[in-house]
Amino acid sequence: MSGRVLLHVCCGPCAVATVEMLRDEGFEVTGLFLNPNIHPLQEYLRRRDAALETAERMGFKLIVRDAEYDPAAYMRAVAFREANRCFHCYEMRLSRAVQIAKRGNFDAFTSTLLYSRHQKHEVIKGLCADLAAGGVPFLYRDFRAGWQRGIEESKRMGIYRQQYCGCLYSEVERYQKELRRDRDSSS
Ligand code: SF4
Repeated sequence: MSGRVLLHVCCGPCAVATVEMLRDEGFEVTGLFLNPNIHPLQEYLRRRDAALETAERMGFKLIVRDAEYDPAAYMRAVAFREANRCFHCYEMRLSRAVQIAKRGNFDAFTSTLLYSRHQKHEVIKGLCADLAAGGVPFLYRDFRAGWQRGIEESKRMGIYRQQYCGCLYSEVERYQKELRRDRDSSS
C-alpha cells in the first residue's frame, strides 16, 4: 500500500516511530501540527518547535496551524463535560485534520495519538472511523507497537519530551502530588 498520508502530529516524540512505520509501508507522510488544547502558550510553542525539529531531522513536511491555536475554543468545547473531555479534544483536532486532508487531496489521514499508550486508543480509533465519512479514508495502525523505539530514538535525538498530556486539566493532574506535598508540609 502507498499514497499520501496526512498525519496529525500531537508532538515530536510521538511522531518519530509513527513516521518511520508509515514510511516502512511506503507512504509519503505530511505532518499537521494543530493542537489548540495545549496549555499554556509557552508549552505550545515548545512542543511546536520540537515537532518542527523532528520534521526537519527526519525530512518530512510539517504543516503548522498557529493561527488555529485557540485555548478558549478548547475550553468551550469541554466546559461542563470535563469527564469526557478527551473525546471532545480529539474531535476538535481530528475533524480539522480531515478537512485539511480533504482540501489537500490526501489519500488518507491518521494521527500520532494512536502511538501513545497514555491515550484512549479505542476512542480515537472509533472517532477517526466516523470522521472518515467526511470523504477521506482513515488509515488505522496500532502505532503503539513502536512505543519503545519512539522513546529511545527521540531521546537519542534530544527532542523535547513533555511531562503532561497538554491541557490545563492534565497539567494539574500531573503535578497535584506536589501540591498535596506542599499542603501537608505547611499544615
Ligand atoms: S488529557 Fe490530553 S487528550 Fe485529554 S483533554 Fe487533556 S490534552 Fe486533550
